Amino acid sequence: MTARTAACSCGQLSVTVKGEPRGVGLCHCLACQQRTGSAFAYLASFSEPYEVNGQATEYVRVGDAGAAFRFRFCPKCGTTVYHTEEGVGGGISIAVGAFADPDFPPPSVSVYDCRRHGWLTLPDGVTAFAKDPD
Ligand SMILES: [Zn+2]
Ligand SMILES: [Zn+2]
Repeated sequence: MTARTAACSCGQLSVTVKGEPRGVGLCHCLACQQRTGSAFAYLASFSEPYEVNGQATEYVRVGDAGAAFRFRFCPKCGTTVYHTEEGVGGGISIAVGAFADPDFPPPSVSVYDCRRHGWLTLPDGVTAFAKDPD
């Protein structure tokens, strides 16, 4: 089975996942823009089991629909590496950039498209949702 490791820029915090992602998507919400410092978040979700190595600082943010997400980032270099949804086991969402792999599978969905920067055009085959379809 394919194993992939996502790591922060200093290498202190990493997470290894197995198998192919359950989903790969973009999020253009303003919270993700501020969280990542980028124009959008590029995320991949994986099923358990996963293995975390290193120390993480945590920040819980409650989304528009009431779900709470616990973000983990490296206390040394500040890279956002992964997050989980509070009370929802079985999976993990990882910042795709942390894999440092230009061949990583492309996104299939785009959420909070209402906040997408005007210059950014989605590739063919991506399903866009104005907000979060959940
Ligand atoms: Zn780090
Ligand atoms: Zn978002």
